[in-house]
Amino acid sequence: MRVNLIEQVNNAGVIGAGGAGFPTHVKLSATAEFILLNGAECEPLLRVDQQLMEIYPDEIILGFQSAGKAVGAKKAYLCIKEKHGKVISILRERIEALNASPFVEVTPLPDVYPAGDEQILVYTVTGRSVPEAGIPLNVGCVVINSETALNIFNASKGLPVTEKFITVAGDIPNRVTVKVPVGTPIMDVLKQSGLDSFDDYAVIDGGPMMGPVMTDLSGHVGKKHKGFVILKKDHSLIRKKTTTIEQARHINISACAQCRMCTDLCPRYLIGHNVEPHKSMRIQNYGLNDVEGKSHAQLCCMCNLCELFSCPAGLHPKLANDALRRDLAEQNIRYQASGNEPAARQNREYRQVPSKRLTARLGLSTYDKAAPLQEVVCAPEAVCIPIDSHVGAPAIPTVSVGDHVQAGQCIGVAAEGKLGAPVHSSIAGTVIGIENNHIAIRRG
Ligand code: SF4
Ligand code: SF4
Repeated sequence: MRVNLIEQVNNAGVIGAGGAGFPTHVKLSATAEFILLNGAECEPLLRVDQQLMEIYPDEIILGFQSAGKAVGAKKAYLCIKEKHGKVISILRERIEALNASPFVEVTPLPDVYPAGDEQILVYTVTGRSVPEAGIPLNVGCVVINSETALNIFNASKGLPVTEKFITVAGDIPNRVTVKVPVGTPIMDVLKQSGLDSFDDYAVIDGGPMMGPVMTDLSGHVGKKHKGFVILKKDHSLIRKKTTTIEQARHINISACAQCRMCTDLCPRYLIGHNVEPHKSMRIQNYGLNDVEGKSHAQLCCMCNLCELFSCPAGLHPKLANDALRRDLAEQNIRYQASGNEPAARQNREYRQVPSKRLTARLGLSTYDKAAPLQEVVCAPEAVCIPIDSHVGAPAIPTVSVGDHVQAGQCIGVAAEGKLGAPVHSSIAGTVIGIENNHIAIRRG
């Protein structure tokens, strides 16, 4: 049964839908003591996972349960923020009705950022700190996202991943969550916002904390997309997020007081890792030749909390980490992790950042509203399906220009012997192009 599910998940092209894109069949091939469903959705304004768990509780519970059995877990923690009381009630009732209890159990999470960082999630639920530069499996855990669990359920019924749930949020008339075919033009999704022109707007690909500001809106939806946050170009968050490493260096050097607030609130530091952004600031600002100190920057998970919340002077400690990481990559230097389980810092529980305060600091409280999942007709004339959405080698196309394909047909397979995942057509039509790691298909 285990091999069967892993094979089905592999054949369906399931990858981490929370943004990581790691091929799920590889995760399920491991053996773990615990499996965690990450339904934290801690990025402000995004509304996918919480709604999927409300609308598809049975499918998500069953997909999660079968994933837990596949890895041999003794317990499956379905994690969702405690503020979603109604969804928690639904999940608990359905877990009982499906006889998934006591194996599957709902675990309410505090409403803090970044509750959904998988290492923070593992610590919150199990009290175990993932070793520096390690993964949850190092402490006996596998973590999957809620939408991934839904896709695992679909895979067990023979259905490949051909659709994606996406929240469109921000300073827009129509906040909404939609389900669209993979390969849909991003502009088609953005237009669900009710805006016609985006000349005065910037778009963040993903959540406002970790998502980058898009420089080109002509792309297509891949299996990892989770949301688009649309803000006026002069919004303070956009200005901050478009600061370059070089610009940041000038600002950082003139104003850092070494108060270490950035370090004291750093979530990875608080679970015991050696990432200390105030030291990265010092090393970068003064050009210190401290290779070991620089290498600590490689432990940063890029959550952006130091940059967008913690620093009282509005400086750029995360960009300082980025600069150090870039230098080390050029010299091919990697952090030498001990592999030991670190001890969390004292007072960690009092140093967590409430989501509401974070949202206010980002200047997004006005837009922190529902984005209901709506049945919108999104039937693009053509789709352009990425073959490299996942971690690993791009899929190898198995179709040629001119071929007719069915919706759900496999059109690209994982490279032999390499980490990867297959891709499937999201519409029926004719292949009209294979280039730049995309397969273009015209409907009909
Ligand atoms: S970057 Fe900001 S928070 Fe960090 S030490 Fe400097 S002034 Fe303090
Ligand atoms: S971005 Fe800042 S707060 Fe987040 S892990 Fe990196 S150093 Fe820590």
